[in-house]
Amino acid sequence: MNDKIWLSSPHMGGNELKYIHEAFNANWVAPLGPNVNGFEEDIEQFLKTDVKVAALSAGTAALHLALIECGVSQGDEVICQSMTFSASANPIAYQGAIPVFVDSEPDTWNICPVALEEAIKDRIAKGKTPKAIVAVHLYGMPFKVDEVMAVANKYNIPVIEDAAEALGSTYKGKACGTFGRFGVLSFNGNKIITTSGGGALVCHTQEDKDKTVFLSTQARDNAPHYQHSEIGYNYRMSNICAGIGRGQMEVLPSRVEARRKMHDFYVQLFKDIDGVTVFAEPDSDYYSNHWLSAIIVDPKVTGNSREDLRLALLEDNIESRPLWKPMHLQPVFSNSPYYGGNVSEQLFENGLCLPSGSNLTDEERERIATKVKEVFGK
Ligand SMILES: *Cc1c(COP(=O)(O)O)cnc(C)c1O
Repeated sequence: MNDKIWLSSPHMGGNELKYIHEAFNANWVAPLGPNVNGFEEDIEQFLKTDVKVAALSAGTAALHLALIECGVSQGDEVICQSMTFSASANPIAYQGAIPVFVDSEPDTWNICPVALEEAIKDRIAKGKTPKAIVAVHLYGMPFKVDEVMAVANKYNIPVIEDAAEALGSTYKGKACGTFGRFGVLSFNGNKIITTSGGGALVCHTQEDKDKTVFLSTQARDNAPHYQHSEIGYNYRMSNICAGIGRGQMEVLPSRVEARRKMHDFYVQLFKDIDGVTVFAEPDSDYYSNHWLSAIIVDPKVTGNSREDLRLALLEDNIESRPLWKPMHLQPVFSNSPYYGGNVSEQLFENGLCLPSGSNLTDEERERIATKVKEVFGK
């Protein structure tokens, strides 16, 4: 059996261990310390915007705290892009709030601004103004930022930007994660860079960052003993994980470049195969980090479905995966309201994510190409 080719696997840069050793030498093996501060500053500089970043234990934790800071509580409604990873929606349930799912549009596969406004109007008519909007930059592709922000601003609803997959992506030259009231980043093992598990909340004021750090470290009041006037969480990033993050930030630009090259590889590979479309930027306003390369297969044209391709790749130990199954189709959210048509459903039906790691070799690309050509008869 050939070695496994993963969809997306961790890719260390080299200096991660140096930062971890520094932490060990100073005995900063704790959920705070110089690597945490350094990592936050690295991200702030990378985002090239006047933001304040709080490093946390996961992207999911960042989303949860963003919802809390937007005042979301029991019985509230929160709009959420349906086509996404469950982590975008779960924290809404943690708060005892109700997710209201909205369909995607076909250009960016992200939240449809038209369906979004329809949803807001209808929820208001039914008696509740949504407390927040969770919009996602899926696979690194920026959502329609101007259109989505215009709708959100019209109804004065804060946007929580789920940029977990989009570190290094930009819209009109501005970094994803910096448009909403809050931006969420993830450093999970499969993301474009990793801290082995971690996340961050991008804030726009020092006050919001301070609040985030306060909530993520058990909400301790300023007193010599342990004093609490609010419910807190254990969500802060450790100084060890942040050390990995510091090493990874040094190589982030080259990781974006490598993922974008994987996208170019697939564009070349599929250019003569009718009925297969490679997911790409709609125009030059959009710059995707192409965290995962994805395709849509039209089985009526190709004669083979995305499932045929997935199984053929698997025969050679190559991992691929259907696109995110929309949340409104998930059993756990079957009682939640949904607005829109069947765009996300169609994408899920015919879409496939292909190996996209920044550490893939020419030989591995060759194995992928061979299988693809076999399935589509080229
Ligand atoms: C990975 C991911 C998250 C969650 O991040 P974790 O760090 O794994 O908690 C949230 N939203 C999206 C879209 C993701 O891909």
